[in-house]
Amino acid sequence: MPIRQLPEDLINRIAAGEVVERPASVVKELVENSIDAGASRIVVTTAGGGKTLLRIEDDGHGMDRADLILSVERHATSKLSEDELDDIRTLGFRGEALASIGSVAELTISSRTADADSGLRLDVKGGFRTGPVPQAMNRGTIVEVKNLFANVPARLKFLKSDRAEGAAITDVLKRLAMANPSVHFVLNGSDRTASNWPAINGTGALQARLAQVIGDDFAQNAVTLASSRHGVVVAGLAGLPTYTRANSLSQFYFVNGRSVRDKVLIGAIRAAYADYTFRDRFPVIALYIAIDPGEVDVNVHPAKAELRFRDAGGVRSAVIRAIGEALTAAGFKASSTVAEDVLGAFTAPEYSAAPTSQFVQRDPLPFSGFEQPKGFGRDNPFSPSFGDPAVLAGLNEPSARFEAEPVPTAMDYPLGTARAQMFDNFIIAQNAEGLLLVDQHAAHERLVYERFKAQLASGPVASQAQLIPLIIELPEEDCARLEDTAPELERFGLYLERFGPRAIAVRETPELLGNTDIDGLIRDLADGLAEWDTTAAVSDRMEAIIARMACHGSVRSGRRLRVDEMNALLRDMEATPHSGQCIHGRPTYVELKKKDIERLFGRSR
Ligand code: ADP
Ligand code: MG
Repeated sequence: MPIRQLPEDLINRIAAGEVVERPASVVKELVENSIDAGASRIVVTTAGGGKTLLRIEDDGHGMDRADLILSVERHATSKLSEDELDDIRTLGFRGEALASIGSVAELTISSRTADADSGLRLDVKGGFRTGPVPQAMNRGTIVEVKNLFANVPARLKFLKSDRAEGAAITDVLKRLAMANPSVHFVLNGSDRTASNWPAINGTGALQARLAQVIGDDFAQNAVTLASSRHGVVVAGLAGLPTYTRANSLSQFYFVNGRSVRDKVLIGAIRAAYADYTFRDRFPVIALYIAIDPGEVDVNVHPAKAELRFRDAGGVRSAVIRAIGEALTAAGFKASSTVAEDVLGAFTAPEYSAAPTSQFVQRDPLPFSGFEQPKGFGRDNPFSPSFGDPAVLAGLNEPSARFEAEPVPTAMDYPLGTARAQMFDNFIIAQNAEGLLLVDQHAAHERLVYERFKAQLASGPVASQAQLIPLIIELPEEDCARLEDTAPELERFGLYLERFGPRAIAVRETPELLGNTDIDGLIRDLADGLAEWDTTAAVSDRMEAIIARMACHGSVRSGRRLRVDEMNALLRDMEATPHSGQCIHGRPTYVELKKKDIERLFGRSR
């Protein structure tokens, strides 16, 4: 076949294959056009998941007759002056969206500028244009897209259900709304329940928009990002490490107002949270980067969903530092949703309409959210066998110790003052607003971990000499691995020596571990070394060593604490960054506000 120049319509359809993948990508292009046109209110209407109808109405500057005709031509744009691709400040710039859409759907564009007497309407069907003809309307632009891909069966086949395509549209619009808080967005249609996000201006607009779009929950369980480093401005909200999701769908990234997916940013988030969350959990985050447009190439992806930073390393470190600082400033905060989970477990009993003798007939456990402990069924403490001497004997052992009523000022501390200890591990504290349950082991582990890291940052960890070296017998391979690692371990304040073929002598131990179970720590480290030997990177290994030391250094685990010790731990937590989560990302405390407690008893109504 000889070479021939392809007809215009075919070129457009080929381009459409890249730009217009599904209804949501049409919405993205059209709403971006509205934003570029300076719209303050954008209404998106859909039907059939956007396959049968998409309608985008804006109150932007509109188009005059000449522009309207040009707008549907390929490579026609008003947004690139001086043919300058290195300094893009608009969302669109390629001038191919409308032409592409017109080649794969029935397209109608109506538009009216501020000084026009009336609007004009242009139709494109099968790539052919009719109009413009006069059309009564307000200032702005209305774009209607009907029967998308009706003439491209191959593409139609790959679309998902109406529901799935509709959800993809919602997602796209959410992101656009998050990037443009001062624009009022409405999303409605026969295929959905409507969303309405009124415009927000002034300080705190971003936060308020995020609360509108993602929910109040997020705004309340996040810290504010605000930093500027090496020409990279980082803003937004970063979820607390205990406020996570099982997938990355709730991570939103914006660069210069454009919603993007970017490996550099995703990697930076992972690194920033590595210390505080499980690897398979994803923090919720809305990250906004502002950077000189010349420092980023937005022309690397057909739908402009990806970009390339000229200085990826600089952006990465700016993001990691910004999140690190914000989380550190948040200190000991744990997310309030943890308390929600607790409340969920304490489901209040549903009383029957006839309250007669409910204590005898009801199921023994008043909390339906709990699994029944063994042996608690028929012969439970509320049943007649309560009087059994055997049962009573067990009750003599106190399960909790109580402390005197605190002086009122002591309750001003954020984590309050200790009132009791239970099961030798949980501190019950009271502050001005409610009750706190603290996992003393988890909390202390975090404190030791942070102290280790702080000491390491300024040189080797301080050590204390053992009066008599401690000799620990271990298999030969373990001894060999420990011996090899001995120089590295000295940085952590642990001084070891080989002591014959199957033993290790411990001469000095990290001071901040106190009189801990050294034997257990060394055996644990030996196990770890066998595992990391081959795989782990040096930095991962360091973290793992510190984590193990912190675990063994938590001398307070499973130990009865005096009230002054408990209070000292609470004060330490308040002063230590990240102490709301243990080093495994679990919360170290939960807080139940007085009103939550009242809710448990149905008193808040
Ligand atoms: P691009 O956005 O890359 O310039 P498009 O094909 O999306 O390309 O749009 C072509 C041109 O049509 C735009 O440059 C703009 O001048 C005009 N246009 C499109 N949509 C609107 C709108 N909603 N309001 C005003 N002008 C618009
Ligand atoms: Mg465009």
